[in-house]
Formats: sequence, C-alpha cells, structure tokens
Amino acid sequence: MRPARALVDLDALRHNYRLARSRHGGQALAVVKANAYGHGAVRCAHALAGDADGFAVACLEEAQELRAAGITAPILLLEGVFEAGELDAVERDSLWMVVHHPEQLRMIEQARPARPYTVWLKVNSGMNRAGFAPEAAAAAWQRLNDCGKVDEITLMTHFARADEPQVISTATQIARFDAATAGLPGARSLANSAGVLGWPGAHRDWARPGILLYGADPMPAADNGLQPVMTLESRVMAVRELDVGEPLGYGARFHAERPTRVGLVAMGYADGYPRSAPDGTPVSVDGQPTRLIGRVSMDMLTVDLTELPAAGLGSRVELWGREVSVNEVAKRAGTIAYELLCNVKRVRFEYR
Ligand code: PLP
Repeated sequence: MRPARALVDLDALRHNYRLARSRHGGQALAVVKANAYGHGAVRCAHALAGDADGFAVACLEEAQELRAAGITAPILLLEGVFEAGELDAVERDSLWMVVHHPEQLRMIEQARPARPYTVWLKVNSGMNRAGFAPEAAAAAWQRLNDCGKVDEITLMTHFARADEPQVISTATQIARFDAATAGLPGARSLANSAGVLGWPGAHRDWARPGILLYGADPMPAADNGLQPVMTLESRVMAVRELDVGEPLGYGARFHAERPTRVGLVAMGYADGYPRSAPDGTPVSVDGQPTRLIGRVSMDMLTVDLTELPAAGLGSRVELWGREVSVNEVAKRAGTIAYELLCNVKRVRFEYR
C-alpha cells in the first residue's frame, strides 16, 4: 500500500476547540467548511459534537452533509443562500444563515416559512468583501425584524487583518461595527481564530474559530498552546547517491554541492504537497530535521539524507505535523496553512 497518509488527531482538535472557547468566553461555532479545512468535516464534527455550541460551513451542501451524518447542533451557512430555492432546505434542516446582501434580504421577505429563520446579519466593517455597509446595517436589521420571517438576529462582522497584531485596522473594524450596531438588540460575533487569540476587544457572544481548531496558529509568534491536528507523512521508497555537480529531478533545480544521499518519498503535489516548496523546506525523517531538495513532482518528492546515515528505505517522513510546522512549510511555499490543509487529497486519512 502506498504509504502516503494524513493522520488526524481528534483529541488535538477537541483540545484546540476548548482552548478557543475558554480564551474567548461565550459560545463558539467550530468552522468546518471546506471539508473541515481538509480534515474531513463529518469526522471532525462528530469528534466535536459533545463540545461545540454549533458549526459553521460555507454553503447548503456542506451543511446537508453534516445533517445527513447525524449532526444535530446548530449549523450556520457563512455565505447564506444563493437562491430562494434553498430556503426550503434551510428550514427543513433548521440551518442558520448569514445575510450579507440586499438580495438575500429580499428572498427572506418573500419566503413563506412555516417556522421563522435564525439569521446572522453581516456588517462590512472594513474588509469590503461581504456585508451591509455600516450606515445600512440598522435598516437591514429593521427589515429582518419587521418581515415576520425571522425570530433571532445575531450581528456579525469579519476581520481582514486580525492576524497582524501591530496593525490598527482590526481595532478600527471593531469600533465601526460597534457604532453601526449600537442600540440594536441581539448577540454579537466578531472573532475568527486570530480575533480569539489576539483581540480581546472582539470577544463577544459568539466566536467563529476555524484555522486554530486545526492547530495552525494564525499568529505563530506567540505560543498559544495549539496542537497540530493533521500529520502528513509518508516513507522513503528509494535511496540514491549523487556526486558533486549532479542534478536532481525536473528542471534540474537542485545540483549536489557535496556528495549527497537522496531519499525518494511517496508524496507529491497530487497529494496536496505544494509544488512551489523550494529547496530547503523543512521535513523530518525518522524524527530528525532535514530538508526538501529538488522540485516536487506529482507523486514523489526528494529529501536530503546526507546527514542522516541511519535513515533509508522505509524511513518515516513527516511533511507537516508535530515535527514540522505547516505554517513554516506554507511560508516557504509562498502560501498559507489554510491552503495547504484544504488541498490534501488522494492520501489515506486515518483518525485517532
Ligand atoms: N468567519 C467567517 C465569516 C469566515 O469566512 C471564516 C473563514 O474564512 C472564519 C470565520 C474562520 O476564520 P479562521 O479560519 O481564520 O479562524
């Protein structure tokens, strides 16, 4: 069997959720959209079911997958509905929905639900991606309140730069949100992971942590005590010696500057390991740190075993997890941990 696999530590997931909830106070929706950032939404939601106050997903299909798997906790659709036809399913599956756009407001006003909806009204406090303008928030709230189709309205916003503690924009967003919603009744939700960990001023009734649940700290400079959830690993399947000056792999990106012992590993960009990872990206072999050398191929990559004489055929290679930080791999590859985790595919998933 091909040895490439992703080990998902569900105890670590629970630890991270509990940590988020206690750092934030109040309640927390576990964000499990995009297949729980690549970790398996159903497995993760079941693992959190005893703890989580609710879940957040991007869209109806993701929510329906959780309901079909027996998840009964509240589920929020972060993008709301895309067309009025989805409202029946929202009602049938007792889903909560974000309303971020006037067209969604109109769909709700025109709907004929047997039971009222639970709505999270999104205010654009400065990210300028989704949400009602601050000056339009009160009127939108009023329309939802008056239409007779909604029983509960939570007020929310989303941060653009909360993972940058030295930048003023998060404080500005909090102030704008507070001004726009002053006097409106209802619960508040501001904090994503970085808001939970770095912005106490954003701690209100509900948090919406995503990436921190999976143990990738959005602000790695501070040690927040998160535990990595996914370990992406494989094994050395062949070993080769390179003489000085010999090239390695596609494009001959790497040339041996010394006699080099190369380990060939069953893991490639078709598994989600980034092709953009440069020479020197950290990997761990049998628990020892070493580096990627040569360009990542579709199914294989190559690592430097020169200084690990005991390593060889069958050695365990960790691409990220407890020994190699996914944040560090992402940084080297010019991306973010979110993208790496979401992209893991083809490998065998094992849960413990
Ligand atoms: N809330 C909203 C509206 C989001 O779109 C997201 C993710 O993109 C989150 C919360 C979770 O963010 P993070 O993974 O940074 O905690």
